[in-house]
Amino acid sequence: MQTPYQLPILLYHRVVNSTCRIGKHKTYVWESAFRKQMQWLKDNGYQTITFSDLDALPANADPGKKIIITFDDGYTDNYTIAFPILKEFGFKAVIYLVTGYKRNEWNLHEGEPALELMSKEQILEMQNYGIEFGGHTRHHVDLKNSTADKQREEVTGCFNDVATITGKKPLSFAYPYGAYNNDTLKVLAQSGFKYGITTIFGPHNWPEDLLRIRRIEVRPKDGLFAFRRKASGRYFNRSWYHFLFAK
Ligand SMILES: [Zn+2]
Repeated sequence: MQTPYQLPILLYHRVVNSTCRIGKHKTYVWESAFRKQMQWLKDNGYQTITFSDLDALPANADPGKKIIITFDDGYTDNYTIAFPILKEFGFKAVIYLVTGYKRNEWNLHEGEPALELMSKEQILEMQNYGIEFGGHTRHHVDLKNSTADKQREEVTGCFNDVATITGKKPLSFAYPYGAYNNDTLKVLAQSGFKYGITTIFGPHNWPEDLLRIRRIEVRPKDGLFAFRRKASGRYFNRSWYHFLFAK
């Protein structure tokens, strides 16, 4: 297993090049910023890996400069905008799919623009290149406020859906809204997923708890300085929210 800190996990949602796709939740980065961030990783010798790469590493492997790039929800811009840039830099990523919808039905009522999710063909093309796919429930539900039965249906159903789409058993699952409770952890452990991915919750030394793995979100206003801190893992150690949210 990898050593901690040395493996930062970045969280993205959408990569955009037009203001009409921004929405109000600020869960995007501009295409130009994304390209600069990938360029910085390349220039600084980072290797992007997936959870299956992580599983294949020998226990005593030198972690070197490895990083996992993740995207939540599976928007089509991951295919149309992010994927060409990832290919340009020879980078991999992990994308968490909502399998019960064709677009973002879960936040349209909040005024978000309607956005298509990726098609099976797009997913398979990306997988063929080396992008890994994981689960994010069927209907983007708040698991923390759902019954255990509902959670099982959403998590195990999603595991089966991703396996059907990709022809591979998925390894990792990202909790929608980063929300989970004790039932969720039990459901996940029984579902077939090996890794549970949160947002800012979970131990800093994440190999301690594979069902509560921390990520750091890249925000639309992050300049290269902020990105550098996030990508190098320093953001976790020194930021103010470490003291507020560390468990
Ligand atoms: Zn999501």
